[in-house]
Amino acid sequence: MSPDLARVLDRMLSAAERRRADGATGVDFAIMSLYRPDKGPSPHRDGAAVDIGVYAGKTINFMRTKDSVLAVAQFYRDMLGGEGEAKVDAKIALGLPRNPRMDPAGALAEYYDAGHPEKKNYYDITSTPGRVITEKPFTVANTRPVLKMEYQVPDAFFQRELEPDRSPAGGLAGAVAALRPEAQQAFKLLVEKDVGKVLRFMFPDGLDHLHVQVVRR
Ligand SMILES: [Zn+2]
Repeated sequence: MSPDLARVLDRMLSAAERRRADGATGVDFAIMSLYRPDKGPSPHRDGAAVDIGVYAGKTINFMRTKDSVLAVAQFYRDMLGGEGEAKVDAKIALGLPRNPRMDPAGALAEYYDAGHPEKKNYYDITSTPGRVITEKPFTVANTRPVLKMEYQVPDAFFQRELEPDRSPAGGLAGAVAALRPEAQQAFKLLVEKDVGKVLRFMFPDGLDHLHVQVVRR
């Protein structure tokens, strides 16, 4: 594991212990994924990223809009350190939880995402009568996945039409400007406090976790 990532995890642990000492109960944080040596190019393969499903006792999931914003903001706050505490000794990038895509191309990509077959559950599939639907991606012109009504919830962070895994233009300032109002409010103050630039950039990532990667200093 990257020593920088170890320092991020260490900071998560000390923040959790502090919350526990202040009376918090239950699970403080949950790690969904850490080192994935067998997968394609990814900071996870290099031991430089962690996926977090629960933080500060709050579930991070596109269906839990408010909790997701509170959890991610608290994570960032913990990395910046409390009163009299130093910033974490690492530079990070955040992959923020995002909503499933609703635009036709995006919905098709989600529906046929080989790495995440569970995403199919979010969609109803419509097709022209008389034609057979196959599992071949992008070849079935008459197949149209439509996001189920119950999953059409407001976005917590970015507009869902933004390209996943890609940072909005303009670096960190551009990413903050692209945030929806509530998240933007939470992040603006933290970014102002972050004079040493612990956080370098942000981008839309998975549906049900915060992705944290350490980046070059
Ligand atoms: Zn990840």
